[in-house]
Amino acid sequence: MEDIIVVGCGFAGAVAARKLAEEKKKRVVILEKRSHIGGNMYDSEDINGILVHWYGPHIFHTESKRIFEYLRRFTEWVRYEHKVMGNIRGQLVPIPFNYSSLEDLFPEDNASDLKCRLSRTFPNKTRISILELLKSDDAEVKRFGRAVYDMVFVNYTAKQWGVPPEKIDSSVINRVPVVLGYDNKYFQDPIQYMPTNGFTRLFDNMISHPNINVEVNCDASKRIRLDRKRGRVYFDGKVWDRPIVYTGALDELMEYEFGALPYRSLDLVFERYKMNYYQLAAVVNYPNEEKFTRITEFKHFTCERASTETTILKEYPMDYDITAPKGNIPYYPIINEENLILYAKYRDALRRFGNIYPCGRLAEYRYYNMDAVVDRALSLCESLGIK
Ligand SMILES: Cc1cc2nc3c(=O)[nH]c(=O)nc-3n(C[C@H](O)[C@H](O)[C@H](O)COP(=O)(O)OP(=O)(O)OC[C@H]3O[C@@H](n4cnc5c(N)ncnc54)[C@H](O)[C@@H]3O)c2cc1C
Repeated sequence: MEDIIVVGCGFAGAVAARKLAEEKKKRVVILEKRSHIGGNMYDSEDINGILVHWYGPHIFHTESKRIFEYLRRFTEWVRYEHKVMGNIRGQLVPIPFNYSSLEDLFPEDNASDLKCRLSRTFPNKTRISILELLKSDDAEVKRFGRAVYDMVFVNYTAKQWGVPPEKIDSSVINRVPVVLGYDNKYFQDPIQYMPTNGFTRLFDNMISHPNINVEVNCDASKRIRLDRKRGRVYFDGKVWDRPIVYTGALDELMEYEFGALPYRSLDLVFERYKMNYYQLAAVVNYPNEEKFTRITEFKHFTCERASTETTILKEYPMDYDITAPKGNIPYYPIINEENLILYAKYRDALRRFGNIYPCGRLAEYRYYNMDAVVDRALSLCESLGIK
């Protein structure tokens, strides 16, 4: 009989299971409702032998040597510096917006003048937020900020979150960097790698441990039942008083008692072409006219697999609806005051059950990058106090 149940075999679940099995010597069962492991990081070769990320492109980047060293135990990695371009009025320019983008989109004289003004206004700075540009005392710099905001940012964000451009909060605007120079790296983290043989191989190796048992095609909500009055958990009809690390959604676990937690979802449309490369960069953003937000071409992640075929992915953001044929996967929690209050109700109600530990992007209703979710799963398992 198992000591611990882990619900979900995404990064949160797989890392937790490994830690508990290996270091705490516990017998762990992972219950995964999909037909495969890896959660949203699941990848495999498509019919053309191209490694495809089936739930959207994933690039590993971190500041933490400790997290990367931990992950290196489970697979080989190859250095990969992520580059993104934006299709602005039919022209491809680097994203984040930098001096090359400026030179591509503004007349030569104007571009030189703007670069001088920017370095005068923001001496010794290499990256600033678009909000800083919009607040500048220099009218030309301010106008430039407005142009970048309109061309690159506002419609993209509106599409992504399904809100009108005028409703976009300034805290979101504040996060968008403009690069004062020619640096065209998308991420600033010093550690940027891709797993040489894909993320699924990493998961396979991580959960290959004699103390770990995995059941796929297994919806935990059909096997775990909560008795709210008594604060008791049942598993397969019997009282379960040992730990459950839960990485699914809390509203689902509690049968939507307080209502459904809202998410944004994606319609992911894959297309295949008989050509060597479809586009110049791994990801090209389409901030304006198109209904999709970006196109990913997977061959750029693993160039050694180059062939005469290529596979691309277009992402169409949409509202999440569990019952709909499209958009039925909860990708991004919609973080606002109302939704956080709703989530807090679930979290408080869960406290009645002392042995369920929420972990990961669904269970904690927050956006985690991969490195952050690994860190979270490791520290949760440390704090469980299991001998
Ligand atoms: C489109 C997209 C792109 C991203 N790109 C990046 C990137 O480039 N870099 C980066 O660092 N991060 C990226 N992320 C974030 C990354 O996906 C997450 O950090 C990571 O997947 C979180 O892992 P998780 O285990 O919390 O969630 P998931 O990967 O969602 O895993 C949860 C698992 O639980 C299972 N589950 C849920 N309910 C049940 C149930 N009732 N019973 C059994 N199983 C259940 C699900 O099927 C799923 O497999 C991206 C996210 C998205 C959506």
